[in-house]
Amino acid sequence: MNAIDPHPGITCPACHSTVAIPLEEIDLTTQHREYAPGKTTIQERLTTLAGVPGNRYRMQRCQRCGLEYCSPLRAPGNEWYELVYQNLSLYPGKRWEFEFVPSQLATGDTIGEIGCGSGEFLKRCRDAGIPAEGMDFSNDAVEACLAAGLKAKLLALGGVQAAGFAENNHSTIVAFQVLEHLDEPNSLFDLAAAWAASKADLWVAIPSNRRPSRWFGEWDFLDQPPHHMTRWTELALKLTGEQNGWKLNQVFYEPISLLTKAWWLTTRSGFYKSFAASPLGKIGPLEKAVRLALYPLMMVRGAFVGKAISGQTMMAHYTRA
Ligand SMILES: [Zn+2]
Repeated sequence: MNAIDPHPGITCPACHSTVAIPLEEIDLTTQHREYAPGKTTIQERLTTLAGVPGNRYRMQRCQRCGLEYCSPLRAPGNEWYELVYQNLSLYPGKRWEFEFVPSQLATGDTIGEIGCGSGEFLKRCRDAGIPAEGMDFSNDAVEACLAAGLKAKLLALGGVQAAGFAENNHSTIVAFQVLEHLDEPNSLFDLAAAWAASKADLWVAIPSNRRPSRWFGEWDFLDQPPHHMTRWTELALKLTGEQNGWKLNQVFYEPISLLTKAWWLTTRSGFYKSFAASPLGKIGPLEKAVRLALYPLMMVRGAFVGKAISGQTMMAHYTRA
């Protein structure tokens, strides 16, 4: 494929290169069928709320840093998210990053969480005796935190200034599954800097670029706009951090078990897919027997694939420069 200029006026939000390769075209009518199957009124409302000219996005990959980002680079507002979350359950209580970050803390660390939602992580911090405070764009989320006795404040649109940070006091800033939703990714790093003590750590969790659906090149509507504006690489994470005074130390990948990897490799293998599509493959016990019979082979293959496939999340660790 030849590199082409993306839509006029659009540059990579991570590295500002203007050279990108076009990827998939995304039609909002098609997307929103997945968000609320069978509910056409809600689907149409979502499309209206997204407010994208022509109801279409295009994904493109930056030729310099590998970031995949959409054009137009415009995230839907709170109303779109509220309607989506009424129709889809997207907040798992258990997340790898909830365990991983506390395991990396030092005594005396205090946490500021950007995008705290209804306070799942803040509660864990409280239970573990770690001082923590959250902020969120959603008033409902902040209310839920306050009702649970957690410290949280509303982050108004307009960002850093509007938030009014007098105290630059947190030794650790975290932002879990926030960056990929933003149409101005730099604003997250700005905000983190405004809230952080000097030499603070910043932990940014985002969807892994080694998650199975990406490794197999599969269509995943939740990993596309209007839900995800961007898909990140290590280089894009590094360059964005540097521009905002954050030095990238390391990127961690959520582990995936060999058995889970074997499940993915089995169900995506040509032999299994042909069998599953045949009349015999429709017989439940037979399908299971064939699938399990393939596991040992796929576990060996999985071992060779190694770290090319990870769990769902990756985590960038920065230090304030
Ligand atoms: Zn770039």
